[in-house]
Amino acid sequence: MTGTVYRKDRGLYHVRVGSEMVRCSISNRLRKQLFYPVSDPAGGTLRRVQKVKDIDFVDPIAIGDLVAFVPAGDGAGMIKDVLPRGRVLGRRITDPKRRVQNRQVEQVIAANVDQVVPVFAAANPKPRWHLLDRYLVTAERAGIPVLVCVTKLDIADRERTEADLELYERVGYRVSRTSAVTGEGVDSFREDLTGKTSVFLGKSGVGKTSLLNRLQPGLGLLVKEVSGSTGKGRHATTHLEMFPLDGGGGVVDTPGMKVFPLLDEGEDLASYFPEMRPRLGDCRFGADCSHSHEPGCAIKDAVESGEIDRRRYESLLKMRC
Ligand code: ZN
Repeated sequence: MTGTVYRKDRGLYHVRVGSEMVRCSISNRLRKQLFYPVSDPAGGTLRRVQKVKDIDFVDPIAIGDLVAFVPAGDGAGMIKDVLPRGRVLGRRITDPKRRVQNRQVEQVIAANVDQVVPVFAAANPKPRWHLLDRYLVTAERAGIPVLVCVTKLDIADRERTEADLELYERVGYRVSRTSAVTGEGVDSFREDLTGKTSVFLGKSGVGKTSLLNRLQPGLGLLVKEVSGSTGKGRHATTHLEMFPLDGGGGVVDTPGMKVFPLLDEGEDLASYFPEMRPRLGDCRFGADCSHSHEPGCAIKDAVESGEIDRRRYESLLKMRC
């Protein structure tokens, strides 16, 4: 049988099949054979593989993985195989084993992700655009579509908020405008999530819990209880879980988790800004251009002429530090 991993708990994997949850173990034999995919810098798909024994702190099975398992009755089973992964959302962490000082490794947050959903409030707290830009770069590098979700629109300065949101829409991102208080945008947000695996990114306090409760009664509280207990985001062992939606699909929350991809040497961050990407070949110094001080930089020129938003450009420079 096959199912989707919704939860991991001390060596037990909760695999969902239809509306049933099967608690599965995994054999040592399989654990040794498993491979850990690392996202490919060029396309965000999976090319490079490493043997798990090289990075044995990384769980070979991620939330969202499709697995083949043998049922053992009584809601239990054993996982035999992990099916090939689709888009993987990962992040950069410091090697927990510290075999090499400050070595950075990529940790899988979730596999087979259909969309990344950065969630932030239009007000109280006020939006941190740089943080949103970091989330967007992370999604771009993984090749995962984005749905930006803005909450608390009922208390926002509508005009100012719109100007900011339209910038992101011009760049090409879909933006969902919601309020858990008035119910604005909740139905269409629900539609956008149904049948998909979505990973929510964002700090706590942005109104995610009330929005999820409005989306599906009790969902917000459930997510908060389970993820909130350990979700400080600093550690590799941060608890992650997918929560099923009534209409199909699921939501993975990553409260406050620091999300940024592991970049390879020579990788140009600007290529993950859709409005900068088409101009990258036009810099005088080509691939050697850092887009910060070089003469004849096509990105800088476009900022000067107003074709590229200055704040987005400054966000790019800040991400390098
Ligand atoms: Zn340049």
